Amino acid sequence: MLSILSRTAYCYVPSTLRSSRCIASLSALPETYQMLYKTCRDFAEQELKPNAAKYDRDHLYPKEAIKKMGELGLMAIATSEDLGGSGLDYLAYAIALEEISRGCASAGVIMSVNNSLYLGPLNHWGTDKQKQEFVTPFCTGDIVGCFALSEPGNGSDAGAASTTAKTKGDCWILNGTKCWITNGYESKASVVFATTDKSLKHRGISAFVVPKPINGLELGKKEDKLGIRGSSTCSLMFEDCEIPKENILGEPGFGFKIAMMTLDAGRIGIASQALGIAQASLDVAVEYASKRMAFGKPIMKLQAIQNKLADMALQLESARLLTWRAAWLKDNKKPYTKEAAMAKLAASEAATFLSHQCIQILGGMGYVSDMPAERHYRDARITEIYEGTSEIQRLVIAGQLIKEYGV
Ligand SMILES: Cc1cc2nc3c(=O)[nH]c(=O)nc-3n(C[C@H](O)[C@H](O)[C@H](O)COP(=O)(O)OP(=O)(O)OC[C@H]3O[C@@H](n4cnc5c(N)ncnc54)[C@H](O)[C@@H]3O)c2cc1C
Repeated sequence: MLSILSRTAYCYVPSTLRSSRCIASLSALPETYQMLYKTCRDFAEQELKPNAAKYDRDHLYPKEAIKKMGELGLMAIATSEDLGGSGLDYLAYAIALEEISRGCASAGVIMSVNNSLYLGPLNHWGTDKQKQEFVTPFCTGDIVGCFALSEPGNGSDAGAASTTAKTKGDCWILNGTKCWITNGYESKASVVFATTDKSLKHRGISAFVVPKPINGLELGKKEDKLGIRGSSTCSLMFEDCEIPKENILGEPGFGFKIAMMTLDAGRIGIASQALGIAQASLDVAVEYASKRMAFGKPIMKLQAIQNKLADMALQLESARLLTWRAAWLKDNKKPYTKEAAMAKLAASEAATFLSHQCIQILGGMGYVSDMPAERHYRDARITEIYEGTSEIQRLVIAGQLIKEYGV
């Protein structure tokens, strides 16, 4: 914890935050988390929030901001210090990612993919050599990684992967298309899932680490998205792409398990991103409601508006506690699949609800891009789709419940 704090304290002297803008439940946590929060908050306020509309409007990857986030230790929070990461825990990751996403949801997803979907499986299953090549250089914010599981024919049904990996001498040959890949354009390596034996269905899937660019890998068009437009999303098309045999991650046939375990942790990240979008919506709504006059008084004094704000705060705070609990369980090496799914489901639905209500509170001003409310609304929507849709989170929760009850 100290490394990131000394680095961040050097770059960003925490401001005195107005108590109304602080996260209430944070005061229950040790001071180190509070310092991390303030550091990320200041960075987001100074570097991200003023530029987020531009990144969104121009589909601009926030290269400089990501570099600075790397300098702050935010691009590899839970990677060990000896590999170049910050050596912090997942609760710290959740707190930091929420604050970054509060400033800019695109920066949030870029950070989330690099931390949990790319570095996560490499930290856990990578060999020393793989870590040297594919972890350490990806901790600095200079370069990022990506995670390629989804395909045109299957997203939720990840076990139906049709991308193939066949052995040829000392190599694996990859063929197939992966789609919707976040950081697809900028990434310098990808964790890719491909089937080595289709007859074994999900048990035939293996995970590989693939450097980019590489012969036999073409990128599809940059998707024109509803939200998180500062992050790139594209297809990765493999045609006889040769990678060294040693680039398999874990054992052959272990890929589906790697994907599912990675997504469990990733969902804590997306829950945190959603919390950041939700908190930003509440910030805008409160500020506007305190100034906008109607019928001779600020609309904040109207009970109808107060009810909306109360419901927003309630959903946000409940989702945050679920997210922190999932992170705490992971940090304490306890099962957390169900809790991570609950956190992601609650936080993403909270982000959709809060950003919707925020627009309502702003009236016409909520509907135009002069105010950030409409961007938060667009950014929120994806959190209910990627890393498992809301329907899939409900399946995961129910599946765990059935196991717990033994029925
Ligand atoms: C902007 C963006 C970024 C993304 N980034 C990445 C990335 O970096 N890496 C990556 O691998 N993927 C990524 N994805 C893919 C994302 O994870 C998938 O879109 C998601 O998992 C849903 O898959 P699908 O789009 O194929 O929808 P489908 O699986 O076709 O689902 C369509 C609908 O059917 C529902 N459904 C499907 N199966 C069931 C079921 N069993 N029970 C109930 N309902 C069901 C779904 O909930 C959904 O409502 C990204 C997607 C987007 C849009």
